Formats: sequence, structure tokens, C-alpha cells
Amino acid sequence: MKHIQDTICAPASSVGGGAISVIRVSGPDALLLADKVVAFKTGAALSSEGYTLKYGTVPDVDDVLVAVFRAPHSYTGEDAVEISCHGSVYIVRSILQRLVDAGARMAEPGEFTRRAFAAGKMDLAQAEAVADLIAADSAASHRVALSQLRGGYSRELRELREKLMDIAALMELELDFSEEDVQFAGRAQLQNLLDSAIFRIEKLASSFKEGNAIKNGVPVAIAGAVNAGKSTLLNALLGEQRAIVSDIPGTTRDTVEETLSLDGILFRFIDTAGLRESADSIEKIGIERSYSSISKAEAVIGVLDGCAQLKDVQKACATIVASVPEDKTLILVRNKVDSYDAIAPEEFPKVDSFYRVLPLKYPAFGTYDLDPEKLAEKLAFYLEKKGVRVPPDFRILDISALTGEGLDTLKGLLVASRRQGVPDSNATLVTNLRHYEALVRAQDDLRQVQVGLDRQTPTDLVVQDLRDAIYELGTIFGEVTTEDILDTIFSRFCIGK
Ligand code: GDP
Repeated sequence: MKHIQDTICAPASSVGGGAISVIRVSGPDALLLADKVVAFKTGAALSSEGYTLKYGTVPDVDDVLVAVFRAPHSYTGEDAVEISCHGSVYIVRSILQRLVDAGARMAEPGEFTRRAFAAGKMDLAQAEAVADLIAADSAASHRVALSQLRGGYSRELRELREKLMDIAALMELELDFSEEDVQFAGRAQLQNLLDSAIFRIEKLASSFKEGNAIKNGVPVAIAGAVNAGKSTLLNALLGEQRAIVSDIPGTTRDTVEETLSLDGILFRFIDTAGLRESADSIEKIGIERSYSSISKAEAVIGVLDGCAQLKDVQKACATIVASVPEDKTLILVRNKVDSYDAIAPEEFPKVDSFYRVLPLKYPAFGTYDLDPEKLAEKLAFYLEKKGVRVPPDFRILDISALTGEGLDTLKGLLVASRRQGVPDSNATLVTNLRHYEALVRAQDDLRQVQVGLDRQTPTDLVVQDLRDAIYELGTIFGEVTTEDILDTIFSRFCIGK
């Protein structure tokens, strides 16, 4: 840390728009600087106890309330004040300017939290959880961030790491007595410890998929033929104009992502380019991306154009189903129910038992108001005939992205698909990519140790793998770290955090 001893200041609330803004000041001179900038009615901040609130005036700028914190009982562990003023950009800027004139330095991104980490107020995983907690916008992501902030899996990993360190130390001792062929570290005990460590780390690492879905949103791809109404559906779901809607086929060239919270669950919708063969190279890239977003998604909304020719709808349906891997939830929607009446009768083939699947609502044929499950059954029959695998939770639903008909049901199906198979709400989840990667590397290292023991590899090589695993685990909560790692982590924070 470059300036660990100086006093830093920064706006701690978003500036402008709010009734009140908070300015944070932390460092050895925090109270002195508060006294220089604020005229207090009831004695200096320097002579105040910690956890007191003082009323004062920043001359010609604003009346303020100043919360006084005394080291080590503050967020950063240093002397600190928080100045509450009116939420005006001008006022905040003026007060910061006076603090800087009095000797403070504007804080770097995440510097308050970095100081809290340096002072041992929190470990690195907890410091990262602060950012997650602030960013959390659903009940689930808030719960996960809060659990991590309160210690999460740090304690468990710390214990595990200490046990591994004990064993490594004993093995290293053996190296000193290598002539005498002694074993201080019981190999059976080590095997047991390795088994349980690998089991535990594997479990944590595998929770990342779930943790990531909670933090960044459950990825849902919106796929389907060009002009089926995917962009319109995305906009309708979000309730705002987000993706480019156009009736020129192939306008959605890139994937568009947007999150939406439904029933406390965060979903991340990914609009994709239409699935079709294309000669246009830019569009081709878009289409390749659609397939890749489908493979990363947890659920896929397959959009069919209910007004298209029947054979095209069936083909589109087969393409979507074939492109969605078996482990995903597929919800098929037949879009544009609002304009079924506008379809010319000659566009529909004869009604027979096979074609009855579509169009259900076409008035000339009467309304076959099949429930979605019945309809899915019928489409499944078609797909099976075509040799296309039918996914286990195959559904279909009539909607209109234009009028909003059926969208509540669609949202309900998404929420329900998520509710099945979600681990219990108290399970420990890894949401941080950095932690996940360190866990995977630690797991690989421990597997190497296992192999080494099985093959009776020389102890010094086995210990090296063990030390690597210990190192990786230590990076998670910051037991071992480098300035580079810290710079990367904290630079992602906002100023004032
Ligand atoms: P995409 O290529 O699948 O993203 O399709 P778009 O969302 O760009 O829509 C293609 C055309 O279909 C546009 O003219 C939309 O206005 C129209 N459209 C989309 N959804 C509906 C709907 O529910 N009803 C009707 N009548 N038209 C729709």
C-alpha cells in the first residue's frame, strides 16, 4: 500500500439525486481534518469519544452532522469520520475540496475496504463480500453476500488449510532426517485428511454454478427463428425498450443481456441472433454466439412465430429443441397469439389430427384451447416422428410479446423451473470467480498429492504439491497475497467503498 499512513476522503454515497450525501474520511488525521473543515457547536471532534454524532457548519457551504469513530472501532480500524451533508453535487465537492486543502487525499477505489483488510478487520473474502453486498439486488444474492461477509466458508477453509500445513510441516521434517527413513506424518492420516479436504473443496467449487446464478442472475437464453419476436419478448419481459426490434430479418446481431428479478430470483436474459443458416459473416458470428449462449444458459425460452407457416413453425421448433442440451429447462412459447385472426385461411394446411397442434386459436378451425401440457404432448409427438429428442420438461405456452398475454404464466414457469433443484437456502455457496478458480487449483494440487502418495513419489515432490494447495487456499481469504492481487480486487470497487 502506497500511502497507508495518510488520511483519505471520498464520497461514500452516490452523489446527486439523494436528499443526503455522506463523505467518508479515514486515517490518523481524520478527526483533526474534521475540526479544520467543520465549525462544531459542541467542542472539537478530536476531543470527542468514538460513536458520537456532532452537529456543525462547513462555513458558507452547509450544516452537517459528523459521526466520529475512534481507532480501532471503525470500518477501517483507523480514526474516521463520516460527514452527512445535503445531497448536492456542489456541496459534496466543496467539502471534499476543503478536506483536501486541509491535507487529506482523495481515496482510490476500494481503499477504505483495503485498509479494513490491512487492519485485520476482515479477511479478503469478506472484503470482496462488501462489494457483493452493495451490488446485491435480490433476496438470494443479498443472503449469499451477507453469509460471506460474516465469515462464510473462510473459517472452514482456514481450518482445512491449517491441518494441511501441520502435515506438510511433518513431511518437511522427514526430509531433514531423510537418511534415517523415518515417517513423522502418518500416511493413513494424511490420506484421510486428503479425502475429506478434496470432498469439501469439490463441494464448494461445484456450488459456484449456483452461486454465480444467484449473484449474476440465472442465465436464460431467448432463442428461436428470425422474426419470431425474441427481441420484442425481451423488451416485454423487462418492461422497457432494450433490444433493437425490427422486422428486417436478422437485425439482432449480437447478444443482448439484461437482468430482471422475479419473485426474488434474479434472471439474466440473453437475447440471441436468430437460429438459421446465414451467408452474412457478421450474422454468422451472432448465430454462433446464440449457440454458445444456449450452452451456457440454465433455461431456454424457445420462441416460435405462431403466425408463420405451419411447416416453418415445426421446423423452427425442431431446430430449437435440437440445439438445447438435455440438462437445460426448455420453455417453448408460441408468440403472436394476438394476431392469429389475421392469418389467411389458405396459409394453413388442412386440419388433420397431425396438424391440429397448430394453430390452436385460428377461428376458422374453432378454438382448440388445449392446455400447455396437452400441446407440448402433441408437439413432442411431431418431434419424435422427426427423430428429434424431446426434452423431459418440454413445455409450450401461447403468448403475445406485443400485448403481454401469457407473459405472467411464462414468468411463473421460469420461477418454478428455478425452484426445483435449488439447493437449500442455507447451503454455503461460492459466488466469486477468483475463489472458485483457487478452489479448483487447490483441488488439482491435492489430487496430485494423492497420486504421489499412491505411487510412493519422493516426499519432497509430494510436499511441493501440498504447499501449492495450501497457497491456493490461502489466497482466498488473503492469508497469502500480493500487491497485484489486491490491486486487481480493490480496483473493481467504487470510490468511497
Ligand atoms: P426477432 O428477430 O425474433 O428478435 O423478432 P422481433 O422481436 O424483432 O420481432 C419481429 C416482428 O414481429 C416485429 O415486427 C414485431 O413487432 C413483431 N412481433 C413480435 N412479437 C409480436 C406479437 O406478440 N404479436 C404481433 N402481432 N407481432 C409481434
